[in-house]
Amino acid sequence: MPAQIIDGIAIAESVRNQVAAETQSLIAETGIVPHLAAVLVGNDPASEVYVRNKERACLKAGLKSTLHRLDAATPQAELLALVDALNRDTTIHGILVQLPLPKHLDSTQILDAIVPTKDVDAFHPENTGLMLQGRPRFLPCTPAGVMKMLHVSNIATAGRHAVVIGRSDIVGKPMAALLVQKGVDATVTICHSRTADIGSICRTADILIAAVGIPEFVKGHMVKPGAVVIDVGINRVNERLVGDVDYAAASAVASAITPVPGGVGPMTIAMLLQNTLTSARLS
Ligand code: NAP
Repeated sequence: MPAQIIDGIAIAESVRNQVAAETQSLIAETGIVPHLAAVLVGNDPASEVYVRNKERACLKAGLKSTLHRLDAATPQAELLALVDALNRDTTIHGILVQLPLPKHLDSTQILDAIVPTKDVDAFHPENTGLMLQGRPRFLPCTPAGVMKMLHVSNIATAGRHAVVIGRSDIVGKPMAALLVQKGVDATVTICHSRTADIGSICRTADILIAAVGIPEFVKGHMVKPGAVVIDVGINRVNERLVGDVDYAAASAVASAITPVPGGVGPMTIAMLLQNTLTSARLS
């Protein structure tokens, strides 16, 4: 039987509609309009697209969005000063600094400078700590999007073996942390570039999550029959978007799978809107 396709476009739309409805209620009750400030340094083409999509999604859901464009040569101190101004601006509820930053900038110092209550990407160590302890303020958008997809698709997690390939601070580590929380109750293995015999580990996964950044890294033989496969990867190959999973081969073995594009990607922006609304409420 072919794998069920987990439709990220449809699930993301339902999240955005819910955010739009709750935003209207918040505005009606309090007059507060959730406001996301995005900062784009330089003109990396992929970042331009991401920021534009985030802005559009905000406006469509009734949130306010402001884009701060800075020259690629902007010094660290100037970017820190902008973050400081946004931190102090009480009309702004979410601050997003689009990554990657130009090489001369210290991303860690910049991200740490965002006040945790406006850190809607949930990259600040305070928000990471709260998430790890199971009392999150904001959840990091991509892993939160995956959790939402699993939930909406009625995919059981308790007692099942989840294997996450990738240990980045943005995807792999928080993904594993969310899967192991009480109430989710998966048994989690994290793989990375130094993992030995990764194929055999992946084949034991009931839920296999790929966040590697290598096109079609996960082959069909690495997927256990009936497993759920979540492909976080977004790779550009000859102008085409390709995931970290060999979709054709994996979907012949899996019980459910996310496509690329149209899988995890749209969820990330939807969860960013959700976090900005949460921040406005908390303000
Ligand atoms: P990253 O920071 O480059 O991390 C990649 C991870 O994969 C690292 O932990 C690395 O291990 C591991 N890895 C690399 N080669 C490997 C190998 N041969 N075997 C096993 N593990 C290997 O990337 P990321 O930011 O987590 O992103 C991962 C993918 O998700 C990318 O394609 C990215 O574009 C995509 N992404 C999508 C969204 C979305 O909205 N859908 C959001 C963010 C990222 P080491 O730690 O040992 O180097």
